[in-house]
Amino acid sequence: CGIVGYVGPKPALEVVVDGLARLEYRGYDSAGVAVLSGGRLETEKRAGKLANLRAALERTPRTADGIGIGHTRWATHGAPTDVNAHPHVDNDTRVAVIHNGIIENFASLRLELEESGCKFSSETDTEVAAHLLSQELRERGDGDLPAAMRAICRRLEGAFTLVALSVDDPDLVVAARRNSPLVVGRGEGENFLASDVAAFIAHTRDAVELGQDQVVELRRDSVVVTDYDGNPAQVREYHVDWDASA
Ligand code: GLU
Repeated sequence: CGIVGYVGPKPALEVVVDGLARLEYRGYDSAGVAVLSGGRLETEKRAGKLANLRAALERTPRTADGIGIGHTRWATHGAPTDVNAHPHVDNDTRVAVIHNGIIENFASLRLELEESGCKFSSETDTEVAAHLLSQELRERGDGDLPAAMRAICRRLEGAFTLVALSVDDPDLVVAARRNSPLVVGRGEGENFLASDVAAFIAHTRDAVELGQDQVVELRRDSVVVTDYDGNPAQVREYHVDWDASA
């Protein structure tokens, strides 16, 4: 439903949770975040209102390393529970994924992953993306998360915005889209991404709209967009000029 990603010097958890609050008007049944904290991947996710997530975050105070992703879920596969809420992680807790939309071929992918030893913890279609990314990264052996994202997107059917971060590249958020919205917000020494500009216009109004079947690599000082084969891609850059309070 709602997606927020951040790389930069501000407290990432606050930026991400605040971004999710600005997307609350869209409706949702669960919310969650993933950050790197002291080089470790940590997630917190709760069914229900953002207040439940905030309360859980307060119980376990942590400082994020300047990178974070967050999600508000509108369940399509699996009940609205804590476990089914996003982010979803791989079995080694090295990669976290959030997802809007539906992965149509998740059942056959799940079967294949289970046969190769993956343990699933949720009933979502989304979780296959976390295990596929992890498998792809293991096979590549070079920690290239954008390349792994492009490879798994070529296998996924349906409509999705997928966002991932990995412990192996603590300055990088990678996102991909097909038939589901994704906008980048460009800042000074920081960058944002979201399903909707409302999530980041308090920070920047310089936006980049991604096209169909594209992957973006978001770092503090760079935004690189390619197609699913890794070729440089055309994007639409624009300035958001409407009133933030509207
Ligand atoms: N299909 C995914 C799920 O049910 C994502 C739903 C959404 O867009 O929030 O978890």
